[in-house]
This record gives sequence, C-alpha cells and structure tokens, in this order.
Amino acid sequence: MTVGPVEIGGVGFVVVAGPCAVESAGQTEEVAAAVAAAGAHLLRGGAFKPRTSPYAFQGLGEEAVAILGRSGGRHGLPVVAEVLDTAQLASMIDHVDILQVGARNMQNFPLLRALGKVRRPVLLKRGFAATVEEWLLAAEYLLDGGNSQVVLCERGIRTFETATRNTLDLASVALVKQRTHLPVLVDPSHATGLRELVIPMSLAAAVAGADGLLVEVHGAPEAALCDGRQALTPALFSDLMHRLPPVLAAIGRSLHPRTAAAPAVRAVSP
Ligand code: PEP
Ligand code: MN
Repeated sequence: MTVGPVEIGGVGFVVVAGPCAVESAGQTEEVAAAVAAAGAHLLRGGAFKPRTSPYAFQGLGEEAVAILGRSGGRHGLPVVAEVLDTAQLASMIDHVDILQVGARNMQNFPLLRALGKVRRPVLLKRGFAATVEEWLLAAEYLLDGGNSQVVLCERGIRTFETATRNTLDLASVALVKQRTHLPVLVDPSHATGLRELVIPMSLAAAVAGADGLLVEVHGAPEAALCDGRQALTPALFSDLMHRLPPVLAAIGRSLHPRTAAAPAVRAVSP
C-alpha cells in the first residue's frame, strides 16, 4: 500500500517515528525535524491517548491532530495517529494519513466496522492479550468492511515476564508474513518499555521480516508526559537509522528511499 510517497509492504523498510503524545507544537516540531533529518518516512504522535489511569495525561485531542498534521506537512512526512472512538473520526480524517487502532481497541468491533468504511489506511496494533488468530480476525473486520489498506503492528504481548513492559513476539511477525498479504510493522518501544532495548529489537525485527518499525522519539524523554522511559532521543534515533542499512543488506533488503522534503517554511514558530 502507498501513503503519499511511501510504499508500505514493498521492498523498502519503512520507519514511523515520533513522540508517544503530542504535548505541544514546539515539542512535536522538534521531534519531527529530527526524525525527518535522520530519514524517517512517517511521523507518529498521539492526540487521544488511551491511558491506564484516568488521572494521567489524556492527550491534547483535536489541537494535537492539527499540530501533528502541520509538523508532518512541514517535513514532508505523512502522519499516523490513534483513533480511540468513532466520534473522533470526523476531526481526524482530513489531517491524519494513517489511522491507528491501539492495542486496547483491537477488538472494538464497532470502531473496526466504522474504519472499514473510511478511505484511509488503518494501522492495527495487536492487543496485548490477543492471539495471532484474533489479531488477523480483527483485521478481517476492516477488510470485510471494504478497507483494504490495513497494516498490522506487533507491539508485544503480556506474559509472566516483568523485566520488560511486554514480551516482543517476533515469531508472530514471521508467521503473519507467511499467512497474510498484509504489511507488518514492529513497535519495539511499547514491546520493551526500555530505551536501551529499542535498537537491538529494531534490528531483530528487521531480520524477522518486518516491513518496518514504529518507534517513539522525544527531545527530552525525562520530561515526557507519556512513555519517556522507552523514548529514543533524537541522537539515538539517528544511530538506529545508521545501523539498519547493513542489517537489512544482510537479508537482501534496504531502507525505503528517503521521502522527507525540505520544509516549505524554514522558521516556524511553535
Ligand atoms: C501508541 O502507539 O501510542 C500506543 C498507545 O500503543 P499501544 O496501543 O500498542 O499500547
Ligand atoms: Mn506510547
């Protein structure tokens, strides 16, 4: 499938990067500029956040959707944001290039049915307690509804292991690549919860046959309002982008060509 200039599921390995949550225009712009310069292909950022605690930062909502769209536009990066509820679709559809369904909503069937009807690609994350079969059947809801633009994303499952936030199920990636025609991304950020594991697991995901990555990046992870412990700094993200090509070359693949255009406006106030 293609999203703007980016082909997902083709020969090129695709990298989606950005903050867990859009916290402000300045923070988003800083990350967008950094990941675009390092060679990311799409920009991510949460606007409506599915937080475990109702007292945690819930995201800036519609304001965040607009901020993300503007930063993506400035750097030539299509944008990915999570939709929690059908009521949010109207405010997102014109600003978001890929609608993400998060792990907590993988089996929200009314949401999946609604997304089956939209003309926007959907990134479907695996639920943290979902089997591969349940994940693929959730994707069927989208396909059956008439939306063929579906990307899967393995983001770790819950196991007895507590040393990592989740357990990254890379075998599911190889399995799903054999069983379906759908592109599969890996999210090493939520899968591990630990910044220092994101690069090794990204390289492993590439070798396991993933079509790309979804990675969280923050300019100042210690001050992040959400998931700072797993966020790469811009410098570490750049390191990742330098380490991927030789690993991809070893399995006969390569990074998707760089797509980010030069910003249309140089000086942008936050
Ligand atoms: C996210 O990608 O921002 C997110 C909340 O991930 P998940 O649904 O995988 O927990
Ligand atoms: Mn997150």
